[in-house]
Amino acid sequence: MKKIIFSLIAIAIILVLVLCMPREYSQTDYAMNTVISVTARAKSGKQTVQKAIDEVKRIDALMSTTLEGSDIYKVNSAKAGTYVKVSDETYELIKMSLMVSDKTDGAFDITVNPLSEKWNFTSSNPEVPKKEDIQNLLEIVNYKDVLLNDADRSVCLARDGMSISLGAVAKGYAASRAMEILKKAKVKDAIIDLGGNIYALGDKRIGIQTPFKPRGEYFTVCEVADTSVVTSGAYERYFEKDGKRYHHILDPKTGYPADTDIESVTVISEDSALADALSTAIFVSGSDKADKILSEFEGAEAVILTSDGEVIRPGE
Ligand code: ADP
Ligand code: MG
Repeated sequence: MKKIIFSLIAIAIILVLVLCMPREYSQTDYAMNTVISVTARAKSGKQTVQKAIDEVKRIDALMSTTLEGSDIYKVNSAKAGTYVKVSDETYELIKMSLMVSDKTDGAFDITVNPLSEKWNFTSSNPEVPKKEDIQNLLEIVNYKDVLLNDADRSVCLARDGMSISLGAVAKGYAASRAMEILKKAKVKDAIIDLGGNIYALGDKRIGIQTPFKPRGEYFTVCEVADTSVVTSGAYERYFEKDGKRYHHILDPKTGYPADTDIESVTVISEDSALADALSTAIFVSGSDKADKILSEFEGAEAVILTSDGEVIRPGE
């Protein structure tokens, strides 16, 4: 009899332990114009993962270019020369974007938006804009015409026709914020993937996609822990016309898709917004500028795949 009672107690204890063990929970959704997913090993996984997803959607609503009422929408619809008050988060991200512009000689420039709209890469029937239209729009692309007022956190676009987009940094920022939510919930093991903007918590192996190959085909694997891995490439959003490929990362100096020796560039940094901005900036600047750009920012590393198939790790 005693034996049976002991066995039952043992089984009950094991059952309780198993039930209390953090389990992996994963959720996929759509936000920031891309597929987003959060995977976490946590006790109340479903709720925790949902909170992280909600955080990404909150930031999307704040920083979307197209959503009426977002901070960016308000800034873009204001009359040139007027200051518009925005949330602290939007303000800081715009400020950080301008700092990156400064340190990358304008390769990164959030005022490239009127050109992005003209190119309209997401349209079902995209066209190459007329040269003349590109020239005209280039006149209003200049990050120095974004004016900031620290006192009341307001933003002003100095010239008529200007507009900004945080498309090249917002996913990174959102990944960092969502990760903060997971960390607060004491999660130690998680992956946030916002359309290729990855944040890994705990030891992880992150494969870097081989451009133009089926998803999941990797040319290298990065072993990382508690950091963000962000890739910019010519293969994600593009259209083809007369045998030429036109992708969505624009060179703010020419108004055309950046045309360098880089096929894809991955930036690894704990600051995911920075990784996002730098991956775009290095993509626009070319591999020979990568060393200099990275030296301006602490704790950021890169892996570049050139069009010749060479893999470069700047600074190594
Ligand atoms: P993805 O969104 O594929 O991760 P990026 O982070 O590189 O790619 O951001 C590309 C988006 O950023 C474009 O869709 C456009 O809205 C905007 N953009 C394009 N060129 C630039 C640039 N030179 N500087 C800043 N933003 C840019
Ligand atoms: Mg980017």
